Amino acid sequence: METAAQNNGSLVILHNAVIVTMDAQSRVFLKGAVAIRSDTIIAIGQSADILLKFSSFSAQVIDLHGQFLLPGFINTHVHTSQQLGRGIADDVDLLTWLHHRVWPYESNMSEEDSYISALLCGIELIHSGVTCFAEAGGQHVSGMARAVELLGIRACLTESIMDSGEGLPESWATRTTEECIQSQKDLYKKHHNTADGRIKVWFGIRQIMNATDNLLMKTRDMAKELETGIHMHVAEIPYENQHVVATREVDHGTVAYLNSINFLEKNLLAAHTVWVNKDEVDILSNAGVKVSHCPAAAMRMLGFAPIREMLSAGICVSLGTDGAPSNNRMSIVDEMYLASLINKGREVFAKGTTDPTIFPAETILKMVTINGAKSVLWDKEIGSLEVGKKADMIVVNPSSWSMMPIHDCISSLVYSMRTENMVSVICNGRWIMKDKKILTVDEAEVLDAAKHASIELLRRAGIQIPSRMNVM
Ligand SMILES: [Zn+2]
Repeated sequence: METAAQNNGSLVILHNAVIVTMDAQSRVFLKGAVAIRSDTIIAIGQSADILLKFSSFSAQVIDLHGQFLLPGFINTHVHTSQQLGRGIADDVDLLTWLHHRVWPYESNMSEEDSYISALLCGIELIHSGVTCFAEAGGQHVSGMARAVELLGIRACLTESIMDSGEGLPESWATRTTEECIQSQKDLYKKHHNTADGRIKVWFGIRQIMNATDNLLMKTRDMAKELETGIHMHVAEIPYENQHVVATREVDHGTVAYLNSINFLEKNLLAAHTVWVNKDEVDILSNAGVKVSHCPAAAMRMLGFAPIREMLSAGICVSLGTDGAPSNNRMSIVDEMYLASLINKGREVFAKGTTDPTIFPAETILKMVTINGAKSVLWDKEIGSLEVGKKADMIVVNPSSWSMMPIHDCISSLVYSMRTENMVSVICNGRWIMKDKKILTVDEAEVLDAAKHASIELLRRAGIQIPSRMNVM
């Protein structure tokens, strides 16, 4: 037991909470408490036991009055750079989306734009209970890093990387493979393990149609050498698979091809992964590749991913919001609800009948906690509330019209909880949101800066959003 002599750093006890630990035993304490010393959980259990255990210590004791306490949620696919582009590509076809809206937008961003965009995105993430996210691959990682440091959350940051492909904006088209690798090595050196260890730098592949084999191989080798992850969009649309078959020697698509060149490893986080066949699901499973399922973006742009088959094959599936131009909502709470409905609904196509028993609430909750942590290669420290893990946690107030009455807290968290039920967020032992107020940045200032930066960026990029109604 800890003694007063070991009493380094302030002790905080949160008690009288419904604690959903998401640990290996799936323990839930109906009247639980957790003790935190600086950034680490040092005890968890029944409220009465924890209060007694630390009764001789000077501690800040906080009564949560029966609110829910959970591990911070992990959003495993989010484009922080795209937040200023919310609404620039609604209801347009895929080519317009990419070539006339998103690429011109992203290729005209400054580092300051990236910083403001990541701040705005971070505010939305924190409000939905996210304490850690994986950047999907965006512009100006140094801008993102500055925002993450200030916001107080945790992130795996990735640069958008392309060394080939048709129709790229000029500033991207000239980038060589060597420059792509060198840039990421420099970013790794500069930002990896900074902000009290909250920032990690990953390697990125935007997608296979914009990557040479040389880039793929160098990325794989460099990520292995630096012991970090790779984030890549995989098998998003049927055309991607057709393109791979037409240009590379393989008979199916992206996953089969990546397997044939030994690219697939445990440190790969594959986003979307919609158009994969049964063999490819097995390939992903055997390689230990993690999959980020983004339900809203999939429904809007891509199609139904075979998530049930992936889970059955033992693949670690987590949830992501994707970016603001393909989803508009960066709430992981919304994605939980959508993931449940969409994958239950997909069974009608798969089996010809409904099956409400599949994708139970606990499966969805795992996706945004422990599976998310495994996906970002951080599960030794985050993803569940356990002694020795980092104090990343969220407080949910269920006493509202949206959640009452509660008969099963796990069901309630997945099927009834709204983003608005999220009241407080702690990351790395520090309160970053309390009573719905973000403590690390001035929200009004960020909103104002974002509004101006977005208008200016669209002007610079020559993007015009036509009005679709008779606006007077
Ligand atoms: Zn994406």
